[in-house]
Amino acid sequence: MENEYGLKYIYTAAQKNRLSELGIDRSILEREFSTTARRDGSFRELESRAVKENRTRLSRLMQETHRPSLCSLQESLAAALCQAGFTQVVTPTLVSAQMLEKMTITPDNPLYEQVFWVDKKTALRPMLAPNLYEVSRQLIQSQSLPLRVFEIGSCFRKESEGRSHLKEFTMLNLVEWGTPLEKRNEVLKEFADLVMKAAGIDDYRLEEENSVVYGDGLDVVTPDGLELASTSMGPHPLDDAWRITCSWFGLGTGLERLLMHREKTAGIHCWGRSTVFLDGACMKLK
Ligand code: ATP
Ligand code: MG
Repeated sequence: MENEYGLKYIYTAAQKNRLSELGIDRSILEREFSTTARRDGSFRELESRAVKENRTRLSRLMQETHRPSLCSLQESLAAALCQAGFTQVVTPTLVSAQMLEKMTITPDNPLYEQVFWVDKKTALRPMLAPNLYEVSRQLIQSQSLPLRVFEIGSCFRKESEGRSHLKEFTMLNLVEWGTPLEKRNEVLKEFADLVMKAAGIDDYRLEEENSVVYGDGLDVVTPDGLELASTSMGPHPLDDAWRITCSWFGLGTGLERLLMHREKTAGIHCWGRSTVFLDGACMKLK
């Protein structure tokens, strides 16, 4: 909105940051005003309303639920998966360069730039798949197929800032080894439905997708196209490096991404591990 001199004012960078950390939707941050007084008045009103909402959310956590949704979601996903015959595994957060190489995460792969290196030979895992491959290859030696395994744990990627990416996030990766490929659509749909139901999400659809690491698969996406989960399958060119010879189906999803969608928040950051946010609320309420 312009004033009589054709001037218009937008929120200052500091105001935008504050409203954004309080969870105000992006579209609102782009509002225009004819005077700075109107703009500042609008800022104060929005801030005070958002502070109240965040305080209510925090109070609910501190007085009623006592556990952040990230923790309870982990628990409900694990329970639903164990119920469906998946076995949980827990593997190291630190992975070797060699493990990443086996996933073709070498300097020519776009994902390579996203890896946090701890030293020349060790990185924070950007995905759970290499460890799951390694563990599964060994389990397959003694257990009969089909075999269902999953892990839930932190993964790390250098991401450019955005509303739906965290540098540190919680991944769920599940895989079923030894199921015939003809069952592709049926099995991948079963996985997607199982995970989304356990997460309390019913507005999603499946979409064909091509991943740089895993090749063709189905993605689970929100109605407006945001990726919630990726699926993949084998035999796959990566399998050789892990000496895996059976067919497989897998699904990977980020728990904070699921929470952001389920709770319809403007961004993902309030759901991640943080010292500023707790369970979807901003703690800076002064
Ligand atoms: P995107 O296209 O959204 O960057 P991706 O295809 O690179 O995701 P995958 O490697 O397929 O991600 O990882 C599986 C799932 O993990 C994604 O569907 C998403 O839910 C979640 N995920 C991936 N990267 C992040 C991130 N940086 N922060 C939060 N969740 C993430
Ligand atoms: Mg993906």
